[in-house]
This record gives sequence, C-alpha cells and structure tokens, in this order.
Amino acid sequence: MKLIVQKYGGTSVGTVERIKAVAARIKRYVENGYAVVVVVSAMGKTTDQLIDLAKQITRNPDKREMDMLLSTGEQVSIALLAMALHEIGINAISYTGSQVKVITDGNFSNARIQSIATDRIQKSLEENKVVIVAGFQGIDQEENITTLGRGGSDTSAVALATVLGTRDCEIYTDVDGVFTADPRIVPGTKKLKEISYEEMLELARLGAGVLHSRSVEFAKKYNIRLHVRSSFNDNEGTIVMPREEMMEKFVISGVTSKDDEAKITIRDIPDRPGVASMLFGELGKQKVYVNMIVQSTGKDGKASISFTVLKNDLDKALKICESLKEKLGASSIDYKENIAIVSAVGVGMLSSWGVAGRMFDVLSKHNINIEMISTSEIGISCVIDAMYTELAVKAIHKEFIESNE
Ligand code: ADP
Ligand code: ASP
Ligand code: MG
Repeated sequence: MKLIVQKYGGTSVGTVERIKAVAARIKRYVENGYAVVVVVSAMGKTTDQLIDLAKQITRNPDKREMDMLLSTGEQVSIALLAMALHEIGINAISYTGSQVKVITDGNFSNARIQSIATDRIQKSLEENKVVIVAGFQGIDQEENITTLGRGGSDTSAVALATVLGTRDCEIYTDVDGVFTADPRIVPGTKKLKEISYEEMLELARLGAGVLHSRSVEFAKKYNIRLHVRSSFNDNEGTIVMPREEMMEKFVISGVTSKDDEAKITIRDIPDRPGVASMLFGELGKQKVYVNMIVQSTGKDGKASISFTVLKNDLDKALKICESLKEKLGASSIDYKENIAIVSAVGVGMLSSWGVAGRMFDVLSKHNINIEMISTSEIGISCVIDAMYTELAVKAIHKEFIESNE
C-alpha cells in the first residue's frame, strides 16, 4: 500500500464545513488505496486567539505554560477530523504529539524535533486506520509539551513522512501553491509549477509564510517531495524538489519580505581584531539570533557595525551591547525597530549578471533608501524602512517577474 502524509493548515480546517470537506478528500485517497497519515493545524485563527488570551493575563508568560496553552488548538482539530471521518465510514484515530512520542529539544516555542516513534502509528495503519497526528507539538525529554514555532505543522508533516519512509508529502493550504510573491498582497503573481529546495528554503527563511523553513530543511535532507496545494480545489500545486530535477529555472523565482527583525548600530568601535568576536561571541552565548551584519570600512581607526536581531530579542541584545560598550570602546548604540527586509530569490542568479544592480535601481527609482544589504548565492536582501515594504515588494516583483513575461 502506498503511504502518503497530508498536512492541512488552519484555514483548511477553519470551520466544521471545512473539516467535513477535508474528511471527504481523505476518503477519496483511502478509496484509491492509499494509507494516509494526516497532520492538522489548529482551526483558523485559534493559535492567535490563544496567544491573545495569554497576553491579557501577562506581558511575560512562562514559556512552558505558553506551549502547554498553544498545543491545545491542534488537539481540538485532530479529534473533530477523526469524528468527521467516522461519520463518513472511515476508520480513523487521532494522536497528540506526546502519544506518538514526537521528542524535541527543550526550547519552548521554537523546539526542534529529535525523533518520532513509529510503532503506534504503524500499528494503527496496519489496522487500516487513517492516522491523524497533531501538528506543531512535541514533548521534551522531561515530557514537557513543546511547540515548534509558528507554522510548525509543516515540519511535523515532513518529519513524519521521513520516519515513516515515504517521499510523498502534501501540504494543503489556502492558496494554490507557491507563488512568485504573496498572492494576497502582490497583484500579478504567478504560481510556480516547481521550485528547488534551496530557493524554497531561502524564501521561507526570508519571510514567505507558505512553508515553515525547517520543513524545507527536512525535505531537502531526506529527499521528500513536497506538494504544496490548495484544499479548496483539485488543482495541481507546486512541487518542491531537487534543483537538478527541475525543468524551468528563473533568474528570480520569488520576492518576499519580513518585518520581525530590528536593527542595532554600534558606532566608533576600534578597527582591530577581536572586536566583532567579542560582541557576536557574547550575543551567541546568550542565544540571541543575529541575521544580517554589516561593518563599515574603518576611518581614523574606527568602524561601525550594524546588525539585525529578532524584535523579540531586541531588549536582550541591547542590554548585552550596553554591557560591552565600554570594553568595545564604542561611542554610541542605537536601534531601529520599524525596518523590513525585502528579498529576491532565484537559482538563476548563479549564472546571471546585474541582478543586484537592477534591484537597487528599482528601489532608488521609488526613493526607497537601502539601509543594509546582504547576499547569498541565490538571494539578495535589503533592509529598508518598514513603511515602504509593500511598495518595494511590488516594484521588485514587477521588475523581475511581470516584465519578463
Ligand atoms: P496554513 O494555515 O495552510 O499553513 P499559512 O497562512 O501558514 O497557511 O500559509 C499560506 C499563506 O502564505 C497564504 O495564504 C499566503 O498569503 C502566504 N504566502 C506568503 N508568501 C507566499 C508565496 N510566495 N506563495 C504562496 N503563499 C504565500
Ligand atoms: N497552529 C500553529 C500556528 O498557527 C501551527 C501551524 O499552523 O502550523 O502557528
Ligand atoms: Mg502555515
């Protein structure tokens, strides 16, 4: 029997009608001879609502209790989906992350999966049951409930496909696949038939919320063929696959943005060995995630360093910088929260010239100042003022994608 893992996101199970529609789709797969393992997210905006509840009680919720709270959303949807399947004559059983031993590290709210026990799932599959597993959650070594980070159900699904030994993993969502930019924001986007793991990973990392970046990492590592598609129709979606197997390669396959980072600038630090290591060594030791780093060329033996951190870590990062200010010999430390990172991604960049120049030109034509730049093999990112995010993404998309029709 062919095994398939299917993941249904929040909107796909957002109402009772939607849950029934998902059950009907699963039934079709069962009738076509598939063994089906299903991963579901919490219904609709449940996770946001749970976060909001916690916020009404405290500004600083205990991380363990937060995961305990957030994991409840998925427990509701797995049970309702199992009932919906029973109603249409399909044998099904639901499991929480802890029941199938999704073991993670103890990093609450952003835990990483370490292992999943397959025996209970296999046994249920042998009993011809559809197995429904709660996405987004696991337990650590001490059996505390953990969650995998927002959007983490995608990663639960890919990890399950990996341990169960199937390459087939469908990610059902509320758009028809992966588009050249967020189709809800940018007009004129195109659905990609296929995209490489590398490009998808870069896009996910740089803000394209359609897939959790760790799910793409897993898929690449274990060669899982991810099919991102809509649960609202039967259209073919986008296949995330190895670069070598792709038919079409674009210079730019996607444009994206993110606004969850803030910029810190430290001015007038001595331009000598050991300064950056002291600063970033300490930030790393205290688990502050640093993304972009730009150091200005030294003048009069002094240099400035700007870098971005997650907004959630900004206070912590500033405290660390202040504590090192004297040792670093810095003249000032300042920060900016209302920034966005806009990025263009494409494997075609590897063999094209002038992509960066074109991107900067588009931004300058719209009078958008570039505050920082970083590049990778297949991506270019610019930090800009957050008020220009939508304008920048639309303009870059127009330049690289719409004008190449
Ligand atoms: P789910 O609940 O199904 O996991 P998400 O909201 O996490 O759904 O992801 C789907 C959403 O991702 C879409 O509704 C879309 O607005 C957004 N999105 C952002 N960038 C892209 C992109 N490049 N292609 C498709 N969707 C994107
Ligand atoms: N329910 C979680 C969230 O909203 C996980 C997910 O949807 O993948 O982030
Ligand atoms: Mg998602």
